[in-house]
Amino acid sequence: NTSSAEDGVVVIGLGRFGSALAESLIHLGHEVLGIDEDAHLVQSWADRLTHVVQADATSTETLRRLGVHEFARAVVGIGSDLEASVLTVLALNELGVREIWAKANGSRHGRILERTGAHHVVYPEAAMGERVAHLVTGKMIDFIEFDDGFAIGKTRAPREAEGRTLAECALRSKYGVTVVGVKRPKTDFTYARPETTIRPGDLLIVSGPTKLVEAFAART
Ligand code: ADP
Repeated sequence: NTSSAEDGVVVIGLGRFGSALAESLIHLGHEVLGIDEDAHLVQSWADRLTHVVQADATSTETLRRLGVHEFARAVVGIGSDLEASVLTVLALNELGVREIWAKANGSRHGRILERTGAHHVVYPEAAMGERVAHLVTGKMIDFIEFDDGFAIGKTRAPREAEGRTLAECALRSKYGVTVVGVKRPKTDFTYARPETTIRPGDLLIVSGPTKLVEAFAART
């Protein structure tokens, strides 16, 4: 069925990264074709993904037989076997898969994948390590940084804001960060409005240049 394949994703390598990715895609409502050469892994994922096949993904012919060329997107989650990772990206390229994503274990691996035709290379360990660095050193509860030095963080509301509205606190002119959302204990997040009053125990979602978001969280 080509239309469901159009919306679906092929996930190759069902290790820790690939399987977590595949499971999230299923939760998001996508069809997932999982491929791994390990029979036990394939069996354990058989009833959780749309299709799971045991195969060597480095073979273009094998992938073609499995209908991989009908999918617009594929993710290669093979990390430790560099040769298998690179050959799989090459095979997907030969099949004309429009969007090839690949996981790299390091920058050398990543450069090779880019040269081989991966359209997007991700570095899960490096990205997570960097993110956790912000969490352990600062007062940030959660943190996402974008490529251009812009970040969104979750942090406790500063003392000075308690009992005042966001308009009164004027955090943007003082700290250069914008409050996007407020979370009161035991309630859902709400969008920040000028008339939102901050109470003790509130959590704030703030956005702005990474350094300013860091500095804001450090002084709460
Ligand atoms: P993680 O660190 O995310 O667990 P690994 O690199 O350890 O990633 O796991 C990669 C997965 O890819 C393993 O389950 C392995 O069986 C699978 N794999 C490796 N080579 C191939 C290949 N040529 N074809 C299909 N699957 C492969």
